[in-house]
Amino acid sequence: MNKQANALCSMTMNNHARIFAAVEAGGTKFAVAIGNERGEILCQERFPTADPVATLAATVSRVRALATPHGELAAIGVGCFGPVQLDPRSEQYGFIGRTPKAGWSSTDVAGTLARAFGVPVGFDTDTNAAALAEHRWGGARDVTSFVYLTIGTGIGGGVIVDGAPIHGLMHPEVGHIYPRRHPLDAKFPGVCPFHGDCLEGLASGSAINARSGALLRELDAAHPQWEIEADYLGQLCAQLIVTVSPLRIVMGGGVMTQWRLLPMIRDRTGHWLGGYIEREQILTGLERYIIAPQLGENAGVLGALALALDAAARRG
Ligand code: ZN
Repeated sequence: MNKQANALCSMTMNNHARIFAAVEAGGTKFAVAIGNERGEILCQERFPTADPVATLAATVSRVRALATPHGELAAIGVGCFGPVQLDPRSEQYGFIGRTPKAGWSSTDVAGTLARAFGVPVGFDTDTNAAALAEHRWGGARDVTSFVYLTIGTGIGGGVIVDGAPIHGLMHPEVGHIYPRRHPLDAKFPGVCPFHGDCLEGLASGSAINARSGALLRELDAAHPQWEIEADYLGQLCAQLIVTVSPLRIVMGGGVMTQWRLLPMIRDRTGHWLGGYIEREQILTGLERYIIAPQLGENAGVLGALALALDAAARRG
C-alpha cells in the first residue's frame, strides 16, 4: 500500500506546535493530512482504500509518521464515506453502517483512531466535512445556512444550518429522493442497489455510465444525457430550496467538473420552481446562488481538518 502512497510535505518542522490530523476516508482512496489551527495543510498523503483492517492500520501508521516531525497531535478529524452513525449516544457512534463497499459494513473508524492516538476524534460524513470546509474557507464563507452537494460515483448532500451540519435521525441522504422522470429517460431502470431509480440511481456518475456507456465528459454536447442530467439535478436543487431554504447551493464532485453543466442546472432549477420563490437570488441571481466549490480537491481534507479543530475546541 505504501508503495502507491503519494506524500507531499511542506513547511518547516516545529516540534512544539499543536497540530491536527485530517483523514478523508473515501470508498476508493484515503487521504491523511496534518494541519494547523490556521487551516493550513502541512503535509498530506493519499493511498487506495483496501480492506478495513489494512486501510485503518495504514491510516494510523501514516498519521503517526506524518505528525511526528511537525509537533504534538491535539485531535483528529475524519470525513468518512457512509452511511455512518453520528449519534454520540449510540454504541455504534463513529461506525460505517450497511454499505455496498465490500467488507466495510460495521467498521469502527472513529474508535480505532481514538484508541490508537488517545486524542479527541471529530467524525462526520465526507460530504458534511467538505461542506464545513466550504463554509469556513471556501465558497460559503458569507452565509450561515447552505447546502453542499457532491455529484460523483454517488450523490450526497450536506445541509449546514447556523454553521453546523444537520444530523438528526442520521444525516441527510438527499441523493435518494425520487425525481420525476425525464421524458427521454423513461426506460432506464436506475443503478441504486436500494431503490433503483432514485436520484442517485438516475443521475450519479455510475448512472450516466450505465445509461450511456460513457463518462459525461466523453459525450458530445448534443447528446441527450446532458439535458437529462441537468434536469434531474435541477429537480434536486428545486426540492432542496423548498424544503430546507438554503442561502446557497454549492455543487461539487466529479460529474460537476464539467463546466457546461452548471448553467444548465440553474436553468432547470428555475423551471422546476415555477416562479414560486420570489427572491432575488432565484429570480435574477442564480449564477451566484448555485455555484461551484472553491476548494477543489482539497475540500475533503480541509473538512476533516475543520472537524479536528472543532473536536479539540469541544475538549477545551
Ligand atoms: Zn437510492
